[in-house]
Amino acid sequence: MVEEWFFTEEQTMFRESLREYLAKLITQDVIEYMEEKREIPREVIKAMAEFELFCPTVSEEYGGPGFDMVTAGIVGEELARVDPTGSTCVYYLVPASWSRSIFFYGTEEAKQELLPKMTKGELFCGIATTESDTGSDLGNMVTTIKPDGDGYIVNGHKNYISGIREASTYGGGHVTLARQDLDKGVRGCTLFYLPLKDSDGIEVSLDREMGREGMSTGGFTIDNVTIPKHYLIGEENKGFYIVHEGYEAARGIIACVCVGAGLKSLENAMAYIKQRKVFGTSLAKYEGIQFPLAEHYTKLMMCRDWAYKALRVMDQEKEGKATRFEVSKHIAMAKLMAPIWSFEAINWAMQAQGAFGYSQECNDQKGLRAIRSFGWAEGTSEIMKLIIGRELLGKEFIAYK
Ligand SMILES: Cc1cc2nc3c(=O)[nH]c(=O)nc-3n(C[C@H](O)[C@H](O)[C@H](O)COP(=O)(O)OP(=O)(O)OC[C@H]3O[C@@H](n4cnc5c(N)ncnc54)[C@H](O)[C@@H]3O)c2cc1C
Repeated sequence: MVEEWFFTEEQTMFRESLREYLAKLITQDVIEYMEEKREIPREVIKAMAEFELFCPTVSEEYGGPGFDMVTAGIVGEELARVDPTGSTCVYYLVPASWSRSIFFYGTEEAKQELLPKMTKGELFCGIATTESDTGSDLGNMVTTIKPDGDGYIVNGHKNYISGIREASTYGGGHVTLARQDLDKGVRGCTLFYLPLKDSDGIEVSLDREMGREGMSTGGFTIDNVTIPKHYLIGEENKGFYIVHEGYEAARGIIACVCVGAGLKSLENAMAYIKQRKVFGTSLAKYEGIQFPLAEHYTKLMMCRDWAYKALRVMDQEKEGKATRFEVSKHIAMAKLMAPIWSFEAINWAMQAQGAFGYSQECNDQKGLRAIRSFGWAEGTSEIMKLIIGRELLGKEFIAYK
């Protein structure tokens, strides 16, 4: 086998043992359970925690394995190979990215209190920036945070947020962005941790999405909720910058998830076309089938290389070898193309499997519904293009300040 230059021996060994572990853990019964019951079995979450899959970049001191971002991406890719619903992928990648913000920018008190529980899968850690009237343009946010005595008072609402049921039922909360200096738009936003379970003044609601059935999405209203000072993440009015870094971690892992899901679908299609006989021979012998397969595979493998390169650049930033801007550009390129190429590959894989491709039984249609979410979640495709454009042309060509 060709050596994959961007993985260390340790990372390759980790992937192999993880693949074996997940194949036994996330069976077809678990997949059907998630689709029907619309939740991830708690024993699956427990088993994921036992393999140290939660909060991968948090150091051992706070209960994490202290992995690099490349290894965090490997987990995303491997989960996507076994879970076409994408539910466990989201349950993994959201806390992986946002526990990282707490780890790097949270107070020592918050780190000691929250991270050991997040790494055990006992507390969910989400992100809440989107509101009913704003998602891409966070400067329009209405949620506010005001200093009050020893802490802060928060008012507002958030919508289209992943992990609402998980955090409000089982425990956990969301890294939340709110406006503090109202004259400064996104540059006056503050970031903090907002617990959802048993919090006075928080009312949650749930949405019904197109896919990722085992994972909830919803919103919450925030009515005069008091936040202790130690839940502040970074400095007041500097939250937007930290949020960007969290989004970049999530986007990089999402790219790996998309690649894993796409490649798995191509494998499913290959198994089908090899055994299917049409017009007297195997379907796999026709060029009309081989050519699109070759194109989808090539695109996904190019994306895979790029996604891991982007995650490596993220690691290099922490080593002082790459700049913030280099990270943004590399990650945005991976997050731009991975959901699109993965969706196209899965769509083709369904087509190649005939009517079975459209049946509930077919895992690929579950994958199609899950992967589509990544055209919006953690930053839309259009926003990725704006980031790449900004890096190519220079800040003076940003249309919106
Ligand atoms: C399944 C799912 C899960 C999500 N989970 C979370 C979560 O956990 N936390 C959270 O905070 N948010 C979450 N979101 C919300 C997501 O971050 C937003 O949908 C996204 O940021 C876009 O915001 P919007 O939906 O308000 O679209 P808008 O900002 O209103 O944009 C509408 C469309 O216009 C495009 N657009 C915007 N500006 C421009 C421009 N200048 N040029 C060209 N096109 C532009 C956008 O790309 C988009 O296609 C989730 C979304 C989905 C679908």
